[in-house]
This record gives sequence, C-alpha cells and structure tokens, in this order.
Amino acid sequence: GHTAPTIPRLLIQAAQVHGTAEAARDGELRVTWSEFAARVAGRAAQYAHLGVGRGDRVAVLADNGLAFLEAYFAVAAVGAVSVPLNVRLVPRELAGVLEDAEPVLLLAQERYSRVAREAATLISGAIELQPLAQSPDATGVLEPGPAREGDLAHLYYTSGTTGRPKGVMLSHRNVCQHALAAACELSLAPTDTWAHIAPMFHLADAWASFAITLVGGRHVFLERFEAGAALDLMERERATITNLVPTMLGAMVARTDAAARDWSRLRSILSGGAPIAPEVVRAIVATFRTEYVQTYGMTETSPYLTLSKLGRAQAGLSAEERLALSARTGRPFLGIELQVVDADGARVPADDTSVGEIRVRGATVTAGYWRQPEATAQALRDGWLWTGDLARVDRHGFVEIVDRAKDMILTGGENVYSIEVENVLYEHPDVLEAAAFGRPDVQWGEAVWAAVVPREGRRLDAAALIAHCRGRLAGFKVPKGIDLLEALPRTGSGKIAKRLLRDGI
Ligand code: ATP
Ligand code: MG
Repeated sequence: GHTAPTIPRLLIQAAQVHGTAEAARDGELRVTWSEFAARVAGRAAQYAHLGVGRGDRVAVLADNGLAFLEAYFAVAAVGAVSVPLNVRLVPRELAGVLEDAEPVLLLAQERYSRVAREAATLISGAIELQPLAQSPDATGVLEPGPAREGDLAHLYYTSGTTGRPKGVMLSHRNVCQHALAAACELSLAPTDTWAHIAPMFHLADAWASFAITLVGGRHVFLERFEAGAALDLMERERATITNLVPTMLGAMVARTDAAARDWSRLRSILSGGAPIAPEVVRAIVATFRTEYVQTYGMTETSPYLTLSKLGRAQAGLSAEERLALSARTGRPFLGIELQVVDADGARVPADDTSVGEIRVRGATVTAGYWRQPEATAQALRDGWLWTGDLARVDRHGFVEIVDRAKDMILTGGENVYSIEVENVLYEHPDVLEAAAFGRPDVQWGEAVWAAVVPREGRRLDAAALIAHCRGRLAGFKVPKGIDLLEALPRTGSGKIAKRLLRDGI
C-alpha cells in the first residue's frame, strides 16, 4: 500500500517524533533529527537534478560517516537503489561490480576519487562521478518519493568468500522488516547510541542505519577500523550497542588497556559475519562486562537469521551456562523460519549431534541475485533459501554453525569441521588468529592444515601447536601442518579468505 514502510518513511517518521534531539555525531559535526532529514532532502534534490530516478542504481564508495548514512536515505528518497561498494577493491574489481550493477551515478568520498575515476574508465557504459562531500549546502523538506515497499532498495555484493561476489537484491520491505524485527529483538530505543565501526558497505553494520533511525537512537562513526580508535570512540561517545566482526573484537580485547575503560553505558556487544571461538567470547565478556550476542546472517537475508540473545526462558541457567549458550550461534530471528535438514530434506533432531544444512524463509529474504537467474535458482529452491551452512540444533532450539559446506574438510573419508579445529587453536594462549582448511593431498584426499597468527611479542612453533591439538582433538582432526603467518588473507568485509589459503597464497 501507499503508506507501507519504505526507507525514506523511516526517517520522516523519526524526524517528526524526535525533532531537535541529536541524531548523529561525526567528528565536530552534530545534527538533530530535523537537520538530518533536511540534509537528506538536500542530497535527494541534488540526485534528482542529476537525473537519477526510480529504479536507477547509485553506487557509493566511502568510509563510515554521516555522509554515507545520508546517501543511503537520499538515494532511497528518489526511488533509486544504493549499491554500496567495498572500499578495499582495486579499480579492476570495482569495474566488475559497476559493469554488473550499471549504476548511473557513482558517489565517491574524496579519498577514493582517483580509484573511482580509474574504475569508471574500465567500464563500457557511461557513469556520472560525483564527490560524496561531508556537508551538503542545500536543505529541504524530505518527501517519501516514488519508492513502493516492493521496489528494489539495495544491491549488496556478497563477501566473495566462496566465489565471485553476487549482487543481492533487497527491497524496501526486506530492509524495513529487518529494522522492525531488530528493534524488537534488541529492544532498541532512543537512549541507544550505535557505533558504526564495522564497514557501512556491509550489512553486518548497515542494517543499523535503518533500525537505529527507526527508533530515534543516535549514530556515531569510526571512519576506518583500528582497534584503539574503536575503543576510544565507544568510550568517548558512550556507545550503548554495536555489531562488530570477530577479527575486530579479537584485536580490541587483545589491547591491554581495553578492560580498564569506562563501559558503564555499554549494554550489548554483537558479533557476526563469521564464526567466533568460545575463547574470544569469554575475553569479550571479561573486557566489556556486558551482554554478548552472537549473530548469524547473510547478505541474502538483510542480514540476521539467528541471535544468541538470552531471554527470560534462560533465567534459570548458571552464569557459566549462559556464557556457553550466548557463544552459540543462536535461535531464529523474529520473522525467520529456519530449518536444519539432512540430504533427504528431513529435519535433523534437536540432539546436539546431527548435522544438516540450514534453509530459511521469511519477509527479510531476498528475491534473488541481480541478473543471475541460475545462481538464484540454485539458492532459492522449493520456497526456501538454502544457506550452504551446516549446523546442529541443541535442546534449547539454539543453532550451532559447524561449518560452511564448502569449508568442511574431507580427509581419509572423515568429515572435519574447520571451526572445531580453529576453536581448539584459539585455546592456546599465544594464538591471535587461526584458520583451518583442507589442502589437496594424495594420501588423504584433503589434509587438515592450519594458518595461525601469533599474538604480538609471542613465539610459536608449529610442532608445539600440533602437540596442543593432539590432546584436544581426535587424531584425524589434528592439523598435518601449520603455517605461521603475520596476517591472514581477508575479504573486504574482513573475513578470512580460505580460498586463498587452500591455494597456498
Ligand atoms: P559469498 O557468498 O560471496 O561466498 P559470504 O557468504 O562470506 O560470501 P556474506 O553474506 O557476507 O558473504 O556472509 C554470510 C556467511 O557468513 C554465512 O552464510 C555464514 O557462512 C557466515 N557467517 C555469518 N555469521 C556467522 C556466524 N555467527 N557464525 C558462523 N558463520 C557465520
Ligand atoms: Mg554467501
């Protein structure tokens, strides 16, 4: 219908309700809700003037900041589709995405203007390049514009962890439903301050742009991740909640000054986008002394699928049991129907041991991949989105991801879940990061292998680490070899690129 929630409507509503309260702070710049809406209207008028209209794509290449947040809303206000670009991509890779999405306009922050120009010269079609400036001069009255709830709002490219990134189509309905469900699930309120620290071009953080706006909470930003700066921002701005990726949290809690800070306002630390070892969760809780919630999601699902947020149903558990449960992947997110099924499509029992693939459906699930009917038909079958993630279900109904199907190691006829091996490596006090993967092997088919990054100032040797694993894992799961590295290869959203490790890069 004409009044169904769309992205611009979320902001119009928030401006009406919250008016002169602070909406965002970016460095020295503070804006109220009315100002935020007016600035977005100014940007929208600019885009309309450039000829951008309903259904057109607008690519954004920028670090975190108020300008990015405003662009998300302004693009939606003219009925156009945001295509957030990964800032770590090189011009050739960016050109691949631009060639696929065919945006009419590319908004690039000053720092990325050269890369953007280079990428633009590599594509066949025409594209308008504009700077994504920090403060627009023009202001105006924000209108809902032509967007309808079923219209495409975003094209997010997947992390490319398992192959070439695919453009995920998300509608206004997908995004707004997610914002509403997240607001309920996490009790988001006007008293919340969300720290945008994980990249805003990735949904692990981007969803909060809409949910925090919906409830009139406050937005604060860290341009680019650095562990000390992230801690500074959270403490200085009295952040109450944020969603970080495990690597970021690992780096933050490894800092000796992290625990001594004032975290009295912090109420929730969310982590997601990649598996996290129970040891790291323990360190997070010890450091921030607040609730920890693990989130599991995908670009294809706007993104949350499960949360490990505990409720009154878990009130009777001991502190230790609560910690263990919140380190699990979680229970289904509001509005998501989730099943774990075996190869025959039968649901696996909730017994902690049987493993199957997760399939989901619900209002936050994508209609498919942009211009990729085959990939869409492959992922969306019989009315379900098949995630490619393997999981168990426990007696609490909590799901535990054991591995991506593509990362599971098949060695000498046995299945080894890479995450299980990694969790054991993380139990070693000198390990900062670990990744387990299968290496092609004549004798074993695949040999279990690992890459490990030692903590700063610690010495590690492969033999000692293998001995550490021996007491804790069945023989066939123990890595046959361990590479000690200074850093792990990563995708743009900060995920470990196991494809590169397997290829020996
Ligand atoms: P691509 O689809 O291009 O290979 P990707 O799957 O990494 O990349 P995303 O949509 O960013 O792209 O990530 C979703 C995936 O991340 C999930 O399918 C799952 O494998 C993994 N993931 C997300 N959250 C968690 C979590 N809490 N625990 C374990 N794995 C997770
Ligand atoms: Mg994926």
